[in-house]
Amino acid sequence: MTYQYWNKEMETLERSALEAYQLTQLKAVVAQALRTSFYRERLSAVGIRSGEDIQNLEDLGRIPFTTKGDLRSGFPYGFLSIPKEEVVRLHASSGTTGTPTTIYFSKGDIRRWTSFVARSIYATGCTKTDVFQNMITYGLFTGGLGFHFGGEEVGMLVIPSGSGNTTRQFKLMQDFGTTVVHATPSFLLHVQAKMQEEGVRRDKLKLIRAFAGAEPYSEDTRTRIEELLTIDVYNSYGLSEMNGPGVAFECQAKNDLHLWEDGYLGEIVNPKTLEPVPDGETGELVLTCLCREATPILRYRTRDLSGFYTEPCPCGRTHRRLHRITGRTDDMLIINGVNLFPSQIEEVIMAMKEVGNNYLILVEKEGVLDRITVKTEVGPEVFMDDTRPLNTLKERIRKTLQASITINPRVELHQPGSLPVSEGKATRVLDQRPKR
Ligand code: AMP
Ligand code: ZN
Repeated sequence: MTYQYWNKEMETLERSALEAYQLTQLKAVVAQALRTSFYRERLSAVGIRSGEDIQNLEDLGRIPFTTKGDLRSGFPYGFLSIPKEEVVRLHASSGTTGTPTTIYFSKGDIRRWTSFVARSIYATGCTKTDVFQNMITYGLFTGGLGFHFGGEEVGMLVIPSGSGNTTRQFKLMQDFGTTVVHATPSFLLHVQAKMQEEGVRRDKLKLIRAFAGAEPYSEDTRTRIEELLTIDVYNSYGLSEMNGPGVAFECQAKNDLHLWEDGYLGEIVNPKTLEPVPDGETGELVLTCLCREATPILRYRTRDLSGFYTEPCPCGRTHRRLHRITGRTDDMLIINGVNLFPSQIEEVIMAMKEVGNNYLILVEKEGVLDRITVKTEVGPEVFMDDTRPLNTLKERIRKTLQASITINPRVELHQPGSLPVSEGKATRVLDQRPKR
């Protein structure tokens, strides 16, 4: 395979040169952060009073972590480090876990962010001949405008369709010959189910590839989307605290995500001890934004679980790859004392052909015990009127889940298309236990 690079020099920069570049950027971003009272206080407490107090990349370890709580405490302008009149845009986190946090951008920040998104898009093989339908929420969420600008930078024809309204999405795809789409994986599965329902013929569509991100999904879900839609799916990772999309992305080798290390400095730490974990092991991803002046954020605890690959990627890029993010430290459910990530359930059910494209995990209290119910849609070929095979299927799902998660869930089967679909990030867990 021949790989294409948006910025070959940067993407294939030899490690020592990449690290030297990171150090220069880190010094600059620390100097910028020192313009905010929050970081002035935090950093002076550890003896960092200027960018020059950072002498090597190991000095990063001296900088205290920044948490979502810190960012909230600074709402609305506490983390702004340039004059307000230099700010051209704001975005906010979608509030996956509580009140949103705000990020500000200067013109230069938008330009740099756009170039990382363009680099990501280009790494999947897209060119200016592509027609790109951005089927994701526009607005405060970074996924809409982030991909929009990146797509235009690559030179693609960008259709700002936004999320939802599948009938209109199909019409746009057919009218303009869409070749590339961006959506959450759950919306892509929904699109596929709707295509069948509405009788949209695949051979009338020119789709080649999809960028799927904004929420965790398993490798089985990727395979399912690829097979059902006959499309190449690339994993896209980002978060508003680090600009948005374009932080880490899969290249054409499709073997997990290159972290763009000239823009984002990554560490993996043990979420309990906050000590670094060895390469390859799973831990919490901590990121420092090296490419933004308006809102510097240092050593941000993303709560996302990942790990670094140690082997090089066949594409020749020197930027390390991150494992697919399987969940967040705060996603973890404790069911009668047993730790469980929703992704463990997804992995099991999405590998079963008879299971449909949508599911929901319900957690309740029954007396003193926690009760978990896995509601899944069935595939269109399963007849809902025929109870015997349905019961057999239900039992098979239950047993497979029990064997893998060591918890005995209830299983409910639902008609295709009957479970709620979100236009943004999917809600996979409804925890109805009383809060302690
Ligand atoms: P937001 O700041 O609202 O854009 O949300 C960012 C969060 O979405 C990240 O911290 C992750 O938890 C999640 N996320 C984004 N992209 C992915 C992805 N490709 N895989 C798993 N989780 C993701
Ligand atoms: Zn690669």
